[in-house]
This record gives sequence, structure tokens and C-alpha cells, in this order.
Amino acid sequence: MDRLLTGLQPSGCLTIGNYSGGIKQVINYQANYETFLFVPDMHATTVTQDPDELRKNIKSAVGLYLACGVDVTRPNMHLYIQSENLYHANLSWILECHSYYGEMARMHQFKEKSKLHENFTCGLVTYPVLMAADILLYDAKYVPTGIDQKQHVELARNLAIRFNNRYKDEFFVVPEPLLPTIGAKIRDLQEPTKKMSKSTTNPKSAIFLLDNEKDIRKKIMSAQTDSEARVAFDEENKPGVSNLLSIYSVFSGMSIEELVEKFSGGGYGDLKKALAEVLVEKLTAIQDNYSKIMQSGIIDDALDAGRDYTNAIAKEKYEKVRRAVGYGR
Ligand code: ATP
Ligand code: MG
Repeated sequence: MDRLLTGLQPSGCLTIGNYSGGIKQVINYQANYETFLFVPDMHATTVTQDPDELRKNIKSAVGLYLACGVDVTRPNMHLYIQSENLYHANLSWILECHSYYGEMARMHQFKEKSKLHENFTCGLVTYPVLMAADILLYDAKYVPTGIDQKQHVELARNLAIRFNNRYKDEFFVVPEPLLPTIGAKIRDLQEPTKKMSKSTTNPKSAIFLLDNEKDIRKKIMSAQTDSEARVAFDEENKPGVSNLLSIYSVFSGMSIEELVEKFSGGGYGDLKKALAEVLVEKLTAIQDNYSKIMQSGIIDDALDAGRDYTNAIAKEKYEKVRRAVGYGR
């Protein structure tokens, strides 16, 4: 079985964007690949986090993976926490020494996030290398992701190729990003030129998987659209409406064409009301599962098993790489 790997930072409550680019893809692929699904808690600290909040978000993220339908009873599903495996940071250091500052400074996400902080951390600059280590440690062939992380997976590809060439062996599998056809970039509800993000400072701009019914409806009804009052899918000229159609498609399984046909006679109000209904139904079901899962022992059992399994694989890979670069005796 080929390996598939992805992770979602516990930097806040997961959004419907994270569902679309990350979790939904894992659920769709979980029968076909050996799946490595982890909580990148070390990535979250590239910006300041409250420790208690971070710890709460880690468990909540795992609860949400499971509540959405990630099936840990499958023997090919491995769920783990990044910081419970020391090889991620160790391999990251080796890869940092094979990466260039210019390469890091060109990353879109670094450019955007560094603007938000007067004094950003070195971790924010080197974070894509840690992400490359996350992927390369396990020889993952596929990395489900949204558009925002595509460039980072490309860096992981480049580092794998660079390392294999320099040390003249197939140390790493060269990974590929997997993007959903619809919903690879769910947009911010208030500023639809931007992507929706869980670490947003404006809660109206994102729908979180644990939002209550009232908030879901309010956020969808107040989403920015345009003054044309014509339902059509045109991401460049009508990003707000196109976003609503994409979200609808992701959560209903209907195609964009079907949705445009269904709503083309009415105004944006009809589309928004129907979309809010779909989201309330789907998210309420996820939230019901979530409450049960959070009270069970299933999360810790899955994380313990995942930690042990992935540490063994990572150790073997790291030792091989460490020897290749000449570390130790
Ligand atoms: P943060 O604001 O803290 O960076 P985030 O919402 O961007 O959080 P990440 O943890 O960085 O979430 O990304 C987790 C996964 O979700 C990645 O695969 C990423 O590509 C995907 N993702 C994030 N935002 C979106 C979005 N708006 N649409 C589709 N996929 C997304
Ligand atoms: Mg992000």
C-alpha cells in the first residue's frame, strides 16, 4: 500500500476549510492507502500559543478527525502527535542544513504570516522544512492538502531530490500533493480574496467545525458576495458567491453545475439559506459524534498506538540519513 500523510495544526478550532483540504480527503482515501495523520503541535508554536489552549486544541483536533469519519479501527490508519516523536525535529535540522535562506523567504505563507507579526520567529521561516521532515520521514507518496500548502509540498519534493542526488541513494520517496477538485481554497467569508484560516482574528470570517447553529447561520447570511445578484461560478470575478457554491458542493456532494442550475433563478439569499441548512445538518452530526468521542478513551489509545508505530519507522529512516551525512562516530 502506498503511504499518504497529512496534518492540521492545532492553532485553533478546525474550520470548514480544513475539513475540505485536509480531513475530507483523508476520509475519501483512507481505504486505499496506509495513512499517517498527525497533529503538528510543533508547527503551531511558530506563532505564540497559550500552552493550556494548545494542549486543549490538540485533543480537540484528534476528536474532530474521528468525529468527521477518520477510522482508527483500520490497521492502516496511524494517528499521532508530532512532538511525541523526536525524529521530526532531528530530521528537520539535517534538512535545514540542505535548504537555502532564499528558498524559505520566497514561501508565500511565510511572506503573508510574517507581515502579521512585528517580530516573527525563526520557526516561522524554517517551518516548511519541518513539514518536509514530517513527510519524508515516512516515505509518504501522497500529501492531501489545500492550495495554501502546495508550495510547501513542492519544497519537500525538492529537498528529497536534492538529498537523494547529493548522497547518491534513494533515501527519500519524492512526495506529491493531492488537492481536491472543489474546495482546495475555501475563502474567508468576509474577505473572499483571502483563504479561510483557523487562526483568523475575525471570527465572522470562518466557520469552525464546533460553531453552534446560530453562529453558522449568522456567518453564512453575512458572508460577502457582490452587487450583481446573479448566482454563477467565477472565482476571479465573483469570489464570494463562488466560495459559497464550493462550500455547498464540499458538504452536499452536489456538483457546481447542479448547484448553479438549482439556484440560478433566485438571489443570493436563497443560496445562503439553503447552504446554512446543509452546514447546520452536517456540523451538528459531527458535533454529536465529537461529544461521544471526547468522553471515550479512544483518543489516547489511538495516539499511543500511533506514537509507537511511527517512532519505529522514523528511527530507522533517521539513522540511515544521519549516517549518510556523517554525524556521530
Ligand atoms: P493557520 O491559520 O493556523 O495556518 P489553517 O486554517 O491555515 O490554520 P493549517 O493547519 O495551516 O490550517 O492547514 C491544515 C490543512 O488544511 C492543510 O492541508 C491546508 O492546506 C488545509 N487548509 C487550510 N485552510 C484551507 C482552506 N481555506 N481551504 C482548503 N484547505 C485549507
Ligand atoms: Mg495554515
